[in-house]
Amino acid sequence: MNEKTLPSNLRRISRDVLLILTATFSILILTACSTNPTLDPVSTLEGPSVQTEVPTSQPSLVAPTGAPSAESTFSPTLEDRNLETLNCTAPASLTPASTGGPYFTTGSPERTSLVEPGMPGTPLVLSGYVLTTECQPVINAKIDFWQADANGVYDNQGYTLRGHQFTNENGFYQLTTVIPGMYPGRTEHIHYKVISPEGNEFTSQLYFPGSNANQGDFIYNPALLIEIVEEGETVSARFNFVIEP
Ligand code: FE
Repeated sequence: MNEKTLPSNLRRISRDVLLILTATFSILILTACSTNPTLDPVSTLEGPSVQTEVPTSQPSLVAPTGAPSAESTFSPTLEDRNLETLNCTAPASLTPASTGGPYFTTGSPERTSLVEPGMPGTPLVLSGYVLTTECQPVINAKIDFWQADANGVYDNQGYTLRGHQFTNENGFYQLTTVIPGMYPGRTEHIHYKVISPEGNEFTSQLYFPGSNANQGDFIYNPALLIEIVEEGETVSARFNFVIEP
């Protein structure tokens, strides 16, 4: 090997080394790709899984005692879940009573929806439980609702926007109605009587958060505010009634 051939040999060796390195690197990449974890076909097709609050066990009637606040565990769909999702700590405060006013009518029809075709107003779905101060469900409690229409007018001849229903085996109720209008001296409110299976009767009213007229209504009680869960075309809200055992 003379002085002139040396540089070209070195160049050839360098090129061979480079080719070997490139080939080795390519093999490593191919191997890595072929052993990559396969994508979960379910998550690929259905998108990220959504956590739901559907209970995995049958509804329990045992109320939590001293459980931390579980606001976030209550389904915004307001279906009847079970009492494990309730934010109730015994002894719970009794729902304050209030006047029934002059517009109660006996003999309301049994129904969970007071909405009729063409009825004006914002639809409202109000749900919750009837409970004792020990956070136990009151099964088969009668709740009799009556209210003004969206213009603040009561039907005192018929049963428009009047109806009663009974709580189910979990103490759950659900009322479909419209948000009532105001009338002179009164903010928006819904009247009701809760009657326990033993016949204990309790009369009060419910109010709407954020109404400018609340503070000017001398019957208004902030302890009777419903909780708005979802606002949209239909307003979803909840309220739990706590009555004497
Ligand atoms: Fe009224």
